[in-house]
Amino acid sequence: MVLVYAESPGGQFKKSAFEAVTYGKKVAGLLGTSCVAVVLGANASGAGELGRYGASRVVQVADAALDHFDSQVYAAVLSAAARELQAGVLILNHTSGGKSIAGRLAVRLQAGLVSGVNGLPVASGTELRVKKSVFSGKAVAEYAIVSPVKILSLTGNAVRPEAMGQPVAVEPLAVPVPAARVSVKSVKTIEGRVPLPEAEVVVSAGRGMKDPANWGIVEDLAAALEATTACSRPVADSEWRPHHEHVGQTGIAIRPNLYIAIGISGAIQHLAGVNNSKVIVVINKDPEAPFFKAADYGVVGDLFDVVPRLTEAVRKFKAAH
Ligand SMILES: Cc1cc2nc3c(=O)[nH]c(=O)nc-3n(C[C@H](O)[C@H](O)[C@H](O)COP(=O)(O)OP(=O)(O)OC[C@H]3O[C@@H](n4cnc5c(N)ncnc54)[C@H](O)[C@@H]3O)c2cc1C
Repeated sequence: MVLVYAESPGGQFKKSAFEAVTYGKKVAGLLGTSCVAVVLGANASGAGELGRYGASRVVQVADAALDHFDSQVYAAVLSAAARELQAGVLILNHTSGGKSIAGRLAVRLQAGLVSGVNGLPVASGTELRVKKSVFSGKAVAEYAIVSPVKILSLTGNAVRPEAMGQPVAVEPLAVPVPAARVSVKSVKTIEGRVPLPEAEVVVSAGRGMKDPANWGIVEDLAAALEATTACSRPVADSEWRPHHEHVGQTGIAIRPNLYIAIGISGAIQHLAGVNNSKVIVVINKDPEAPFFKAADYGVVGDLFDVVPRLTEAVRKFKAAH
């Protein structure tokens, strides 16, 4: 059986949970088994909806102690759930939460783990073979997981959530919940924007903006496109923009449907975090900027002229459609 941990931060399911269940259903299909989703916390409303994305059962460890994320406690509970349900494959999202529990789970379950996969595995006897990109997207490595229990963590936006089932009744699952050894004093989350790893449209800007006071035109374009904003590393290092917007090798790796790079040269370390985007649009005044080699569409021009005109065109298009 394939067990999918469906994340529900703050009691809400986000796209990443539906992606994981869709992926889990497909893995279960190729292994000829069923897909079960596990939900942690007392107030995960709408968990039964996971059935729409392919979970034949949804089980919930409805303990209020799980309403706040704790990687040690979550790993203990998920490993107990995997044992109880005799899961052969466990699937998580490759989010900050998923990353912090995947290794712990692998140890607890004596399981082979491949983290950050973006494609379906292939079953070969008792092995599971799966590919993922390595060396900042420059190469693809194929891994074979040979242990009886296998864990995969799925990169965001690698799979489109697909409705392929019906909502199901949520079943309680009784597994021990250990006491937390860490007490969380406060949590600060960014409000009002789709987080970068989940964003489908990203508008990003670099040092070509010249001054943080100029960011209004980037914000305007992002608002017109309902996009999340990002930036290059020097921009975050200079505190022109917050660090959580920094994308690249040493920042966040993203794979949106559309990435618009404004006044960014396209250094290899930047490309490492964005070159899995489906469509890349580059706006740069230097026709020799390396980013153009990675672009699907390029505009050679002064960003202070091009970006406001693009925003205007997007607004007009949206108003007419
Ligand atoms: C170990 C290491 C890790 C790194 N990790 C990262 C990382 O994770 N992410 C990252 O981004 N960088 C990273 N870097 C830095 C990276 O090498 C580049 O220095 C950085 O990406 C450059 O940022 P930029 O493109 O904003 O600035 P610049 O290289 O200064 O480029 C600015 C661009 O703006 C264009 N421009 C200027 N004015 C205009 C205008 N008016 N209109 C249109 N275009 C204009 C210029 O032609 C130029 O191409 C890393 C470096 C190292 C050594």
